[in-house]
Amino acid sequence: MADIIALLPDRVANQIAAGEVIQRPASVVKELVENSIDAGSTCIKVIVKEAGRALIQVVDNGFGMSETDARMSFERHSTSKIRQADDLFKLHTKGFRGEALASVAAVAHVALKTRIHDEELGTHITLEGSEIKTQELCSCPAGTSFSVKNLFYNVPVRRNFLKSNQVEMRHIIEEFQRLALTHPEVELHLIHNGNAVFNLPEVSLRRRIVGIFGKKYNQKLVPVSSSTDIIRIAGFVGKPEFARKTKGEQYFFANGRFIRHHYLGHAVVAAFEELIPKGMHPSYFLFLEVEPSAIDVNIHPTKTEIKFEDERAIYAILRSAVRQSLGQYNISPTLDFDQETSFNVSPSMPSGEIKPPVIHVNPDYNPFESEKKPDAGPNTTAGYSSSSDNKPPDRSAAGWQDLYKVARDWEAPEGAEDTVEVEITKTETATQQVISSSWGTEQNERESRITVQLHRRYILTSIKSGFILIDQHRAHQRILFDELMETMQKQENHSQQQLFPQTVALSSSDFELLKTLEADVNALGFDIAEFGKNTYVINGIPADASGQDPGHLLDALLEQYKLNANELKLDRREHLARVLARNMAIRPGKDLGKQEMQHLADALFACEIPYYTPSGKPVMVTFPLEEIEKRFEK
Ligand code: ADP
Ligand code: MG
Repeated sequence: MADIIALLPDRVANQIAAGEVIQRPASVVKELVENSIDAGSTCIKVIVKEAGRALIQVVDNGFGMSETDARMSFERHSTSKIRQADDLFKLHTKGFRGEALASVAAVAHVALKTRIHDEELGTHITLEGSEIKTQELCSCPAGTSFSVKNLFYNVPVRRNFLKSNQVEMRHIIEEFQRLALTHPEVELHLIHNGNAVFNLPEVSLRRRIVGIFGKKYNQKLVPVSSSTDIIRIAGFVGKPEFARKTKGEQYFFANGRFIRHHYLGHAVVAAFEELIPKGMHPSYFLFLEVEPSAIDVNIHPTKTEIKFEDERAIYAILRSAVRQSLGQYNISPTLDFDQETSFNVSPSMPSGEIKPPVIHVNPDYNPFESEKKPDAGPNTTAGYSSSSDNKPPDRSAAGWQDLYKVARDWEAPEGAEDTVEVEITKTETATQQVISSSWGTEQNERESRITVQLHRRYILTSIKSGFILIDQHRAHQRILFDELMETMQKQENHSQQQLFPQTVALSSSDFELLKTLEADVNALGFDIAEFGKNTYVINGIPADASGQDPGHLLDALLEQYKLNANELKLDRREHLARVLARNMAIRPGKDLGKQEMQHLADALFACEIPYYTPSGKPVMVTFPLEEIEKRFEK
């Protein structure tokens, strides 16, 4: 048999290697900016077009490269950062594998202009798919500029796998934010399609966080700092009352690199124990410094998981450092640590909701918590505080079991919410149809009907054939949802104009998200508009929500939209309507007057599907007379 083994040409080898290092435009941004930082730059500009598909350009004022180095830099395993394997254990730079530029050059059109500070002329090199096309001397500013065009032009599979521009841009922003947090000492700019996304001057870390995530953060942060033989910890954690349902801003950096670390994340959460309700996540920006030799560097360049030598000790140190900071903050809550006075949020700023730092434990009933309690009756709803005198009925009697069956079956498991709606209409029980059709709204009928509120949570009301218990929060959800859907269909705007329009400062990614949702959010009855960089102005909110804080309402809407966006494959408008209905609905715990209860019940029975919430949870439980009689026969 003839010899069949051949060495792959460099071009092919590079393309294969590129697959590991360069997954999407954001990876190019990361590699180029890291190189600029390694080159001692104090100012880096990132310019992207079409979320990096058309252009990614990184311009720095770092060392620059000599003519030979410029050419060499695109070779595989060409690096100025290590000389021998041993150097790996003393690493202080971000790059070291010498693979990034070779990889980028393999899958794009690249142009490099670079000049060393004490040379008069610089070098201009262009490449296409690893091949140098041109090389010439040029005059250019000191430092380096890489421009990467037509990414993956020769790897159609990769190109086709790219997500929408919005998604790719979000990845770029996320990557940029991580780099910006790691290097507050470097001035950084991000420009997308000619618009500035970030202009971050060289500042302290605290200001950098505020610069990235919005002015609100200034009052949210508690500094953490600890220094031991094993590890130095510095950074900030978010105050407990700002914990959120989504994981949001959780950043660990180890020796200047963004890392993910589940175990250490747990240490931080453990420090928050009893300070925040279960299921809420604190934000944190924590920088860990260990001896480079105490980290396993033998890791993939794009992986963010790393291993520390002494993880258990680090866990304990981290937990106690965070705990201590939180303790200090609790003892003297008004003390604003390390406050940079020039950055005080002026009290007139609408977005600066200056709250006293009280710790909310389960401030609100959480509509997203699984309401399924394995052995509780359908009228016991986890998430509300269930009191002992509110026991579920004895389900041993067969009749009762049947009665509840429908409701029980529709306690949709989490994540499966979207599948239930259509089915429900078919499974309405006969009893339900009876109540619905016999629900009279005539004055005399109303008067004779008994309506009582139980535990400030349920409405008990008599019907001809027995009585029903209505969950007030869920009932209102159903009513509002139907109204909101109708509003959107009719394209009438029932917005309640605000006397004082409120501006809300958002993080860049929330801002981008809201831009994509803006039309639908307005169709729901809001009146919002872009208002400068990362800011929206709320001119109006849905009429039914009047009395609620517009900023909070919009915040909650975004937050919960994000939370379920991946699980639900719902129509975007329906999803928004659900989320908004949940937020606007009256809460358990709210006292209702007789009239309010009657209105609520009337409106509920005017709905097409009064028995279930839009996500398929039972709104009411029926107790027919015959069943009650049966129970007494025993
Ligand atoms: P690595 O960063 O792992 O060394 P790269 O392929 O990213 O490998 O870069 C190769 C080399 O090119 C670097 O080691 C560095 O010497 C040089 N280089 C890359 N980018 C720059 C830059 N912006 N300024 C100066 N030198 C650079
Ligand atoms: Mg590099």
